[in-house]
Amino acid sequence: STGPESTSPARSRLVVLAGPTAVGKGTVAAAVRRTHPEIWISVSATTRRARPGEVDGVHYHFVTDEEFDRLIAEDGLLEWAVVHSAARYGTPRAPVEEHLAAGVPALLEIDLQGARQVRERMPDALMCFLKPPSFEELERRLVGRGTEGPEERARRLETARTELAAESEFDVTIVNTDVETACEELVDLFRSGTSRVRS
Ligand code: 5GP
Repeated sequence: STGPESTSPARSRLVVLAGPTAVGKGTVAAAVRRTHPEIWISVSATTRRARPGEVDGVHYHFVTDEEFDRLIAEDGLLEWAVVHSAARYGTPRAPVEEHLAAGVPALLEIDLQGARQVRERMPDALMCFLKPPSFEELERRLVGRGTEGPEERARRLETARTELAAESEFDVTIVNTDVETACEELVDLFRSGTSRVRS
């Protein structure tokens, strides 16, 4: 049957996943990548160095400062930000537009500053905030992953405290209690066709 439901356009083809540092955005995105290959996940450009095990073009496009400048100058980025006062990160614009034009559901995993830019440029995007079960749990995860030294960790925790307050700017919140559940809740956002309701 072709009721009004099935003929109306899908609304939330683009989902933006953001949230405080160390909440597990990357882990949830990785779970989506593994279990839902029908969802395309944007590969960001970054000026930071690759960590062991990271592959250029897969986890990030690792670029020089000059290349990043060029991307900005060409309006090649949908959004970009300096994250943790350390490096620049940005979402290449063309691949996002191409996948959306082809009707492929697209997921961006980016920081809060970037999410705000996408909300302005792509008002139909569904903004999803990933939040930890508690601040203490966030602290535990940041220590547990051991990728930062004590100073950097303290800096990121301070950032996280501020970032947690941004939840109200988002359309939906997912609590990251366990990765599999968070992953399914995220994927459901594409299925439900929930559209942004903003006054
Ligand atoms: P990491 O260096 O640990 O891979 O990522 C650090 C932060 O950069 C994470 O919070 C991640 O969400 C954010 N990030 C990754 N890619 C992008 C991007 O394209 N744009 C923005 N604004 N932030 C990004």
